[in-house]
Amino acid sequence: MELPENVRNIISTIEKNGCEAYAVGGCVRDTLMGKTPSDWDITTSALPMQVKSMFGRTVDTGLKHGTVTVMIGKTGYEVTTYRIDGEYKDGRHPESVEFALNLVEDLKRRDFTINAMAYNDKNGLVDEFDGRGDLERKVIRCVGNPMERFTEDALRMMRAIRFSAQLSFDIHPDTYNAINKLSDTIKQVSMERIQVELTKTLVSDNPEKVELFYSTGIFAAVLPEISRIFEGRYRQNALCMVRFTENTPVLRYAALLNSLEPEEARSLLRRLKMDNHTVDSVTAIVANSKGKIDENEPAIREALNRLGKDLMNNLLIHSEALAKAKEEITGVKLYGTHNHIVAVRKMMEGIIDRGDCFTIKDLDITGNDLIEYGMSGSQIGRTLNELLHVVMDNPKLNDKATLIAMLDHFQ
Ligand code: ATP
Ligand code: MG
Repeated sequence: MELPENVRNIISTIEKNGCEAYAVGGCVRDTLMGKTPSDWDITTSALPMQVKSMFGRTVDTGLKHGTVTVMIGKTGYEVTTYRIDGEYKDGRHPESVEFALNLVEDLKRRDFTINAMAYNDKNGLVDEFDGRGDLERKVIRCVGNPMERFTEDALRMMRAIRFSAQLSFDIHPDTYNAINKLSDTIKQVSMERIQVELTKTLVSDNPEKVELFYSTGIFAAVLPEISRIFEGRYRQNALCMVRFTENTPVLRYAALLNSLEPEEARSLLRRLKMDNHTVDSVTAIVANSKGKIDENEPAIREALNRLGKDLMNNLLIHSEALAKAKEEITGVKLYGTHNHIVAVRKMMEGIIDRGDCFTIKDLDITGNDLIEYGMSGSQIGRTLNELLHVVMDNPKLNDKATLIAMLDHFQ
């Protein structure tokens, strides 16, 4: 296994100071799978204050939990002292953190066998729980007794499903059964954390695994509206749509929630503590997905004005996914719908490429021009709006002299 130079240097610096250090967790898993890890975590026998003394630039990321971030250039590496987590009284926050005496103790507290491997050049791979075997078998399996591990920390149930979606792995039957039994305890976990796992599942290669949150009872416990989608007649539609739509949070959530009333989708996303942009975009897509945009340029300019370019583009992708889902479910080809979407998209691209006006800002006339003309107050905004609609109907009219000549008709 090839460690990046910076990681090798951090490990050898710690070793030179008489302590142990290993790359651990996700980075080892990803490397063994032939993927490039997004970040490298290091676990060490050195105490946080010792780690700080060994390196020039460090950040106290979580001293209490044993974590110091070592900065090399602009990149940070989290170096965490071997830990044993205390009892998780509320199913989430360790009551106490004790430092562990050896690496294996630290690996025992980790969630899944594939996440519980460590590596350094001196000792090679340390794999006490057959994480490598589970990587080959493509299974997510708890380290130790799943009932105990999920009772310590309920979030792990969602992590199991999320990793299975990201890695295209199955969940080991014992691990799955424990999730099934304990799903209701997900209520102890904060909505922010639930949202992170749900979003990661949706934007993975296997977004249809989101169904496991339903089948295990996790949705029923914390997001009953989504549970109802899966109970009802929109289950297959939702599962097809998340697969067929593009891979962004906005589009995947819109696909999942397509059968909800727009305001129901909005309140659900708010409860999930989703950012405003995502909440607004998903709600708008769900609200507009039942309507049809007429296949003529003025109507498309009006739609661009109402929704904006990005949302309009997303709405077309969403409509395409909806059509494909209907085709898959019914076995009937919807040529007309596809042709319509292609035609609308082509017209939209033409409008954007030509730079046709579809916002007040694009008008060849401004509020100041109207003041000069002798207008005041609310008349200005109203007139600009009327001119905009005229111009969206006929773009050739977007010329200052022409627009001023029209003003007499707007008194
Ligand atoms: P990702 O690619 O999503 O970052 P990761 O495996 O690095 O995957 P992190 O959430 O960054 O996941 O956690 C790093 C490591 O810490 C995990 O690999 C695992 O060993 C351990 N870990 C994280 N969260 C938990 C948890 N809730 N319970 C037990 N161990 C955990
Ligand atoms: Mg990570």
